[in-house]
Amino acid sequence: MTPGALRTDIEDTVAHAARLAESALADAGGADFRTRWKAFAARGVWDAAPAPDAGAGRLGPVTRSVATVEGIGRAGTAAGLCYAMASQRFGIQFPLRSVLGEDGQRRLGDTESGDVLLCHALTEEGGGSDPLSMSTRAEPQKDGGYLLTGTKSFVTAAPVADVALVFARTAAERSPFALSAFLVDLRSPGVEQSAPFPKTALTEVPMGSLTFHGVRLGPDRMVGEEGAGLGLLTLTTAWERALLLSYALGPMRRVLDRTVEWSTTRKHFGRRMGASHIVAARVADMALALYRSRELVYRMAARLDAGERPRQLAADAALTKISVAEDYLLFSQQAARLGGVRSFIEDSGLTADLTSPMAASTYAGPNDLLRITVARELGLPVEN
Ligand SMILES: Cc1cc2nc3c(=O)[nH]c(=O)nc-3n(C[C@H](O)[C@H](O)[C@H](O)COP(=O)(O)OP(=O)(O)OC[C@H]3O[C@@H](n4cnc5c(N)ncnc54)[C@H](O)[C@@H]3O)c2cc1C
Repeated sequence: MTPGALRTDIEDTVAHAARLAESALADAGGADFRTRWKAFAARGVWDAAPAPDAGAGRLGPVTRSVATVEGIGRAGTAAGLCYAMASQRFGIQFPLRSVLGEDGQRRLGDTESGDVLLCHALTEEGGGSDPLSMSTRAEPQKDGGYLLTGTKSFVTAAPVADVALVFARTAAERSPFALSAFLVDLRSPGVEQSAPFPKTALTEVPMGSLTFHGVRLGPDRMVGEEGAGLGLLTLTTAWERALLLSYALGPMRRVLDRTVEWSTTRKHFGRRMGASHIVAARVADMALALYRSRELVYRMAARLDAGERPRQLAADAALTKISVAEDYLLFSQQAARLGGVRSFIEDSGLTADLTSPMAASTYAGPNDLLRITVARELGLPVEN
């Protein structure tokens, strides 16, 4: 496909997803997270189908999903909901499909209807950056199954999810083969889902903990082989680092459009605000940040659609994640400055959320630690 046709198909898909999302928001805009999730599913937003009136069927499934997430954001969907969508799609569904094939999709259940909501349970109270320090354990049983014990914390969607991809220790030592991964039905006896944590970033999606009080898991709940958990984690994090920040593209576009409108109409010092060179430069910086972010994310999607292996993309995915997360924060800071006091007033139409962009420097691997990985790959003698 030519670059021009590709761009057209992406724009068509973004517009198609935005239309679907607008009608879902009209149905359930102010409802709770799960009701909104279901309303989006009912409108077909989650299945990232090709736009009927366009050649979007020519887009690969990864690019189409990124364009769908962008369209959902463009429609004005709250950033937390866009994040939840991107997190489920890119952090769980795509990586598991690549490991387990279509069977993997079936094992997850009916996600497209919104009946099954997934979460990715890695982090514990003791920390998230160092997975080999985890204490949640899965002990082998005589019937070939496992007994799962421990607590995962700070997990997106944990209070309302149905199935969790859980990483647990199947060997005591600190070795690359000490971890295994399981698909855990959260309605199983012995599973405790916490109430939502009162968090300050991405407030529209609940976060919480999952406690496993000796939960019995059949042998079929293991993903891959025993000891392959760290390998799977490398895969899910490569996908997340490549594409999770796609959730910010739609909200960034809306904020840019609103800021341009504000800078064009607002008057002070006897002229329109946008006539100031410093204002114009800040708006241009916002456009640059969005342009860079969009190019990087869609390039990652195109490479995955072209069949590049996510693990081989890991280094570029880390660079993409750092770059987009930091551009999102810079972008939001410029918007906050230009909105003046309205940036800090709810419902002003110019409210700026700096906390959610800042959180992007923490999830999917803290940027500081990713920088260390980047430097190590360049040859520096630096360890975590
Ligand atoms: C919005 C949001 C959603 C999340 N969703 C999920 C989820 O769905 N599932 C899940 O399992 N987890 C989730 N998390 C948790 C996330 O994965 C962890 O926060 C992350 O892994 C970092 O762990 P930590 O917060 O314990 O930070 P720490 O490991 O304590 O690190 C904090 C900071 O310490 C510094 N630091 C630590 N060690 C070093 C070092 N060696 N070198 C340099 N600097 C260092 C860095 O600045 C780093 O950012 C989410 C977090 C957020 C913010």
